[in-house]
Amino acid sequence: MRIILSQRIDVASEYEDVPFSVYHFPKRYINQIHPGDRFIYYQGSRYKKDHRYYFGCGVIGNVEPDPTGEYFYAEIFEGHPFKHKVPIYHPDGGFYESIDFADVRNKPNPSWQNSIRKISDRAFNAILQSADMNIDVGNQSSQLESNNNPIDTLKELNKRFRTLSAQERSKRIQKHLDRGSSVTKALKSVLGASCQICGWSGFAKKDGSNYIEAHHLVQMSEKSKGSLCTENIILACPNCHREIHYGKNADVYGDGNLICIDLSNHKTKIMKNTIAHLESVQNISS
Ligand SMILES: [Zn+2]
Ligand SMILES: [Zn+2]
Repeated sequence: MRIILSQRIDVASEYEDVPFSVYHFPKRYINQIHPGDRFIYYQGSRYKKDHRYYFGCGVIGNVEPDPTGEYFYAEIFEGHPFKHKVPIYHPDGGFYESIDFADVRNKPNPSWQNSIRKISDRAFNAILQSADMNIDVGNQSSQLESNNNPIDTLKELNKRFRTLSAQERSKRIQKHLDRGSSVTKALKSVLGASCQICGWSGFAKKDGSNYIEAHHLVQMSEKSKGSLCTENIILACPNCHREIHYGKNADVYGDGNLICIDLSNHKTKIMKNTIAHLESVQNISS
């Protein structure tokens, strides 16, 4: 599916968006946006027509509710700002979004006020072409979510998270986007959904999967670079995780490529979840 996402960049957004990183949207649009969808960003403006243009593209990653349940977050992968803005008007007349409009709606003109709307394949490609973007941009990574190899997903996510700006990182952190995030999910599929400290596989959730949490070695609140990357994360059952944070003499800290664990019943060292380590785990188990 190809979609348009409205994103204000000329004025502050009323949503908790971070362009090219996270899209925050009201529940009513939930059926119009799916992991793997390719999108183009549209900057709307009610009053100034020359402030209406397209300015970037990307692929939708995980979609999950925010804490209120009234809004959702969509992760954005493969975000590419256009080299230049593309006005909404096609040089041959009409709007870009009117090309092959019948594929996606009844009337020629798009509903500009809809934050998320479908766009035909041909209109999508025409905008990318006018932006001097390769029309295949983002095509491969639409498989990111359905990636056969979770390590490839993790490599891609590490790359993205390492380059997040402090502002982007703190937005993600505040909203606990890491919970049940793509990283945790992919880590579980490589390591198995069990606690890396005590080995317990957590309790079974209603959906049949196991409940395991992600602990961040360098606390996310410290907002350090790479705090969302795999080597900073360990999978922990709720018991161990709670002891790490609230235990009397509990200590868990990184030491080179190792993580030293000092909990009441578990004193051990484990490998950090670097990509190299994850690859070796995967090779052993396959
Ligand atoms: Zn545990
Ligand atoms: Zn923790």
